[in-house]
Amino acid sequence: NWDLILYVNLELVNKTSKRRFIVKEMLGQGTFGQVVKCLDTETNNYVAVKVIKNQPAFYHQAIMEVSLLRALNHKFDPDDEHNIVRMLDYLLFQNHLCIAFEMLGQNLYELLKRNHFRGLRMEFVRTFSKQILDAMIVMREAGIIHCDLKPENILLVPSLTPAAEVKVIDFGSACMEGKTVYSYIQSRYYRSPEVLLGYPYNTAIDMWSLGCIVAELFLGLPLFPGASEYDVLQRMVKILGGQPPDYLLREAKNSAKFFKHVGSICPGSEVYDGLGSSYRMLTEEDIEMRESKRPKVVKWYFPQLRLDQLICNYPWKKTELTETEKTERLVLVDFLKGLLKFDPDKRWSPLQA
Ligand code: ATP
Ligand code: MG
Ligand code: MG
Repeated sequence: NWDLILYVNLELVNKTSKRRFIVKEMLGQGTFGQVVKCLDTETNNYVAVKVIKNQPAFYHQAIMEVSLLRALNHKFDPDDEHNIVRMLDYLLFQNHLCIAFEMLGQNLYELLKRNHFRGLRMEFVRTFSKQILDAMIVMREAGIIHCDLKPENILLVPSLTPAAEVKVIDFGSACMEGKTVYSYIQSRYYRSPEVLLGYPYNTAIDMWSLGCIVAELFLGLPLFPGASEYDVLQRMVKILGGQPPDYLLREAKNSAKFFKHVGSICPGSEVYDGLGSSYRMLTEEDIEMRESKRPKVVKWYFPQLRLDQLICNYPWKKTELTETEKTERLVLVDFLKGLLKFDPDKRWSPLQA
């Protein structure tokens, strides 16, 4: 029982703790607390310490983060070969749970920003995708759902060589498959259709987020930057074509927030629109009638293009692409379509991808 062992250990640590880590600078701030760069006086190395807010809910979730990372690090990736952050230690300090990690570099959002949101070269998109998938294969083997994959939670590994490497961090929202507790998970732009619709989920939700991340690495900007959940879903429908499968819309508990049941419209009927579904997404007028206020809709970052046009024509003013570049982009479209399948059962597994 990891939880129990952790509690016992933490009590001991709290009583005997001496000042081992010296805070040097602030690295990041998140929902759970702050991350600071520290000098580890025992090893003389720099480490990143996540200082968890001292409220019970955050504390319990962080205990989960420690438990899952311990299993991932030691049992599933003992030799640090699979692009998952290493946890070095954890302790209680002045009633705050602190988790020490190996010191990593910038996150991928910061990298995109540094690159003026113009997107990365295909070579890097490919390398990073492979490495994140490597981590996801291990996570799936361990039965762990990350639940918050996004560029901010993928970090560059500092290196003296030009080889680019990333690691997956932040298991602060993660859970075990089959023991899912929360229904409000994932950051909005990277939230899967099944989570939006309120349907039981599994590791396939991480594959959806990966699809969004990979597209963003290439484009430089998020693929579905919706200002609301409705807006996100509308963007998915427009960019990907199609919509979530009927079984999902029938059984998910939030379907009515986004879709209306229109009954089966058969091929041959005058109003048949080729969708072959009994559901239609609510129009903005539908929403207006219901709520008497318009949903917040931010302007599209991209022209409202289908995925293949978006990927193959980006950036808009570029000179002629070489044949190799054209092929690479078609391969990327194919890859993204495997990850961004509305039906979680048809979505590629990490190994397939
Ligand atoms: P979120 O709001 O995403 O849930 P969080 O509170 O769970 O955030 P983390 O994502 O673990 O916190 O860390 C927040 C930020 O701190 C990261 O996005 C990253 O920029 C920085 N950071 C975290 N871990 C490290 C590390 N090991 N090395 C360097 N920087 C790190
Ligand atoms: Mg985070
Ligand atoms: Mg987090």
